[in-house]
Amino acid sequence: MNSIQLVDLLSQYKKIETEVNDAIINVVRSGKYINGPEVKSFKTHLQEKLNVKHVIPCANGTDALQIALMAAGLKPGDEVITPSFSYIATAEVIALLNLKPVFIEVNPDSFTIDIDQLEKVYNPKVKAIIPVHLYGQCADMEPILNFSRKNKIVVIEDTAQAIDTSYTFSDGTVKKAGTMGDFGTTSFFPSKNLGAYGDAGAIFTNDDDLATKASMVANHGQSRKYVHDIIGCNSRLDTIQAAVLDVKLKYLGNYITARQEVAEKYSAAFKTIDDLQTPKIEKYSDHTYHQYTLKLKDANKRDALMTFLNNESIPCNTYYPIPIHLQKGFSKFEINTDLTLTEDLCSRVISLPMHTEMEEDQISFITKKVLEFFKK
Ligand SMILES: *Cc1c(COP(=O)(O)O)cnc(C)c1O
Repeated sequence: MNSIQLVDLLSQYKKIETEVNDAIINVVRSGKYINGPEVKSFKTHLQEKLNVKHVIPCANGTDALQIALMAAGLKPGDEVITPSFSYIATAEVIALLNLKPVFIEVNPDSFTIDIDQLEKVYNPKVKAIIPVHLYGQCADMEPILNFSRKNKIVVIEDTAQAIDTSYTFSDGTVKKAGTMGDFGTTSFFPSKNLGAYGDAGAIFTNDDDLATKASMVANHGQSRKYVHDIIGCNSRLDTIQAAVLDVKLKYLGNYITARQEVAEKYSAAFKTIDDLQTPKIEKYSDHTYHQYTLKLKDANKRDALMTFLNNESIPCNTYYPIPIHLQKGFSKFEINTDLTLTEDLCSRVISLPMHTEMEEDQISFITKKVLEFFKK
């Protein structure tokens, strides 16, 4: 058996090596290193894939969030609802722009925003909400969109972990993650479900005006060459990364299927373990398994399970061990919402190896060892 990795980017690359190498060398030979034709090509293909009117490529997923907040016209002091149970970037950009995060509890089964808390955390200073489609599953967008329409606030979907995940509305309409709110943002960090070979990101919107604003913000606030109407930043998708992504986009469907197959095998093997809760598939969303995350009923066993698996050369990780509101950098924000569940989840979750190149014997070995741990 080959050694097990949490994420295996190299084996994935080997399968598309010639195609990717050709795409990269084409850029190098073209001499068009900034905003080369590959950027436009990838942007167009992604628009078609996600059925969204505008894709604005940028340098990374954190920039995408920042650009969306800036383009939405938020003012210092405005408040933004977002989960504390997420990667730091989501709340970081809020703090960076002198906005105030209003942390909201997550649903303990889906790990995404608890929609029952929306009205409780709302106050008139709230001008935006950033739901996070965590681990590859959509937050419950229909009630979130209804809430935001009612209160006239901007919705920015953090889709870094859920590209191409589908959400089903109560009337049967299906939309892709990141295309339902005013903005969606994503990351093409190498380990994401659609990963570049370096940093990359994008913003999605169906609104022409917002698209123009976001493009301006990402390009020094420029409306015409050397004319700068607003303060922006420099956040471009690198042409070489666009070339890589344009190749990999064709395989995204296969990559997601491969992840779902691993998840199904894991979940089938673990269903007899009372102490473990396998990922719950909500009726409104499919799951693209950026992470395969288990929840332990007994929080005291989590670290022991991690140590046990690591000793068997099975890498595993916790996303995320410390909630954002308890990070030192965020201590200046007063917390008025109850986040006990978020704090509790951080000590209960564990994510197993999950990537597109997992082998049968590796999956069997991992499930066997997890079962062994709980039989002890
Ligand atoms: C990865 C990630 C980001 C940030 O993306 P970068 O490209 O690393 O800047 C933001 N939000 C979430 C939920 C992420 O997982």
